[in-house]
Amino acid sequence: SIAVGIDIGGTKVAYGFVNEQGEVLAKGSLQTDLAVTPDVMTERIAGAVKQLAEQNGLALEAMKGIGIGAPGPLDTRGGKLTCPPNLKSWWGFPVVESLGKHLPLPIRMENDATAAALAEKWIGAAREDEHFIFITISTGIGAGIYSHGRLITGSTGNAGDAGFLIVDPSGTPWETVASGTAVTRQASELLGRDVSSKEAFELAAQGDPQMSELVARVFRYIGMGCVSLINVLDPSKIVIGGGVSQVGEPLFSAVRQYVSENALNPSGRETAIVPARLQQDAGLIGAAALIQVDYT
Ligand code: ADP
Repeated sequence: SIAVGIDIGGTKVAYGFVNEQGEVLAKGSLQTDLAVTPDVMTERIAGAVKQLAEQNGLALEAMKGIGIGAPGPLDTRGGKLTCPPNLKSWWGFPVVESLGKHLPLPIRMENDATAAALAEKWIGAAREDEHFIFITISTGIGAGIYSHGRLITGSTGNAGDAGFLIVDPSGTPWETVASGTAVTRQASELLGRDVSSKEAFELAAQGDPQMSELVARVFRYIGMGCVSLINVLDPSKIVIGGGVSQVGEPLFSAVRQYVSENALNPSGRETAIVPARLQQDAGLIGAAALIQVDYT
């Protein structure tokens, strides 16, 4: 049967229908309107989901359930978003209860990176792995942990909130120095104009000395976080997704190199470091995976 996936983000909400093979049957997206209350947003999301079902001749009431991927910190036991930095107006909002009023189906919610990890296990780059970590390097950094054949959610759904690993003696969190935002900020400061993270990586590849130095530092920081995760959790694989992973091979070879030199134990030094398989619709498929895959 079919699952509804809803990926709530700070700028948009992606929603759609996903079958048991992980295929997206229909999808849409809505702007996250921070000028209205979250109650109004869940009503809009529900309306959009109903409309999409109708347009595609799909019976919503026959679907298996709704999976929600949402930014942390959240409280999956209470069905709430506690304090996600990019969704301030949603702090404390009981999103599961509110959506359930409009869409009477079973609902499961996990943080978005945890949901994406489950999707990589389901149909992605970690199908064969019983121990892996999914890392998304985008506006911030998030991670999902899969260990001993299980998705590790923690007691409230916040396990794997790796963006706040400390990778610098000054106490700076990982995402402050190793995310797409970190690249954009530092590149713009160095060049005295607005520089996107994509452009910074391109300039580095062309040999620009300042951008090369910046990018090498960012890769090293990405490697440091990976090493900490490897030392603590002993995965056989790290799957990296998110906008910054589009940089591709330069990033992956730099991280492999750093890990091979710095992980504590010999097996850790050989941890596979691979790109995420799910790129397009990753958030939506991750959310639907919460319904299609029995992970509890
Ligand atoms: P979100 O954070 O909303 O999930 P993305 O995963 O696309 O969105 O991540 C956005 C971040 O990734 C931005 O900081 C952006 O600069 C960076 N980014 C997106 N595409 C690329 C690319 N091709 N190369 C390098 N950085 C990128």
